[in-house]
Amino acid sequence: MPYIDYQTMYAIQIRIITVIIAAMKYYIWTSGCQMNVADSRRVASALERLGYDPTRQAENADVIVLNTCVVRQSAENRALGRLSSLRPLKKQRPDLVINLMGCLVGVKDNPKIRKAFPYVDVFSAPSDLKPLIQYLMHSRRPPISDIETKADRIIAESDLTMPKNGKNRSVSAYVSVIHGCSFACTYCIIPYRRGVERSRPICEIEAEVRALAGQGIHEVTLLGQIVDRYGNDIPDGPNLSDLLRAIHPIDGIKRIRFLTSHPHWMTNELIETVAELPKVCEYVEVPIQAGDDDVLKRMKRGYTVDEYVRLICDLREYIPGVSIATDIIVGFPGETEKQFQRTYNLLADLRLDVVHLARYSPRPGTLAYRRMDDDIHESEKMRRFRAIEALQTQISKDIHASYIGRKVEVLVKGKRHDRWKGRTRTNKLVFFETPEDRLGELVSVKINWAGAWSLRGTPFLGMSGEP
Ligand code: SAH
Repeated sequence: MPYIDYQTMYAIQIRIITVIIAAMKYYIWTSGCQMNVADSRRVASALERLGYDPTRQAENADVIVLNTCVVRQSAENRALGRLSSLRPLKKQRPDLVINLMGCLVGVKDNPKIRKAFPYVDVFSAPSDLKPLIQYLMHSRRPPISDIETKADRIIAESDLTMPKNGKNRSVSAYVSVIHGCSFACTYCIIPYRRGVERSRPICEIEAEVRALAGQGIHEVTLLGQIVDRYGNDIPDGPNLSDLLRAIHPIDGIKRIRFLTSHPHWMTNELIETVAELPKVCEYVEVPIQAGDDDVLKRMKRGYTVDEYVRLICDLREYIPGVSIATDIIVGFPGETEKQFQRTYNLLADLRLDVVHLARYSPRPGTLAYRRMDDDIHESEKMRRFRAIEALQTQISKDIHASYIGRKVEVLVKGKRHDRWKGRTRTNKLVFFETPEDRLGELVSVKINWAGAWSLRGTPFLGMSGEP
């Protein structure tokens, strides 16, 4: 008998598993932050390694994964609604495998959820693929030996692989670089559900980005709940600048982004690194949450309005043309009309590019939930929300209008109807028409139309680049 090494044996066994379950289908529903999008990509790759094919209809799937978010009650309700809608399907087809994943489950054992949804087969914490993969391997006939090691392998390999994608090939990918969060803002449930901060080693991230680049990925967005704290949990560890420098030289990668930043950890070194490295885009997401010092203190955000304003000035000074996104919560407990007005006025002054707006939602377990009264009426929260929404729509329109007549560099990410769509380095959405296939390319586009949410233009042959 010829000698077969372990690697080959492993490949043959996986192939056998693949053949046995040929034509099995998976369906993934993803809600919430980009980290869940990144995790769903890993789940999809792992399932494809096991021989499953994607389907767009949950009813046709043999495995259904719900990757959930609970950051606000509305997100939790959506996840619960989706979960309940699967009950009849499971009754009809008992061998359907349902995997509940993400923040509805959390990192700690959650007996309440297990009891409430007995028809769920597998519960898994955010980013944890192992329970599903092991479950699927356990249920195989004939039985598979050494499941633990094989599951680890499949998971490690799926980190390095892009799954099949419907219409468009993927050009961009999210890569989580820190899991969890150790920074307890009083309103936020995420640290309770995602556990303490854990930075991934640079070499592992580098290998992942290199592998993705090899599969046609041209843009990576590095993710962390507080991405600028990258490395803080590793003694003498690297920081985000070191990480950016490590992945910058990777061939095939044309653009690098990172999010979300916390104002306190956006150091001068990081700002200089963004300014210096050509592939790192001039785009930052740095939430302020509120424009009033008292509210910020009660949110335990760890900075003042003045410090935030200084940071915005520094960003604009050192990174010319920088585009800035922020997050705002309106109706935090005790937020007075005056305090809300300060937030409104600050946004009117700063004229940031994007504002992600949320109405305060009390989250069980958080400090705000336990110690503060949710005393702003829902209709008042809505009024404040609408006021900032109207302000920001006008600001975005004005900023977009300033693009008219300019040439911008667009990374083409796909097609909508007969138009190509892509993003500028500053993350503005651009549509343009051309008969040629420009997917994955950097195209120079001259902008001739601007709305509140997107730009349109014509491709421009010649030198690309934003002014
Ligand atoms: N760790 C990141 C992202 C947190 S979740 C950060 O610190 O920015 C994304 C956004 O949801 C937050 O920035 C915040 O604006 C909003 N958010 C979090 N908890 C919330 C709550 N209880 N009610 C309303 N909005 C909330």
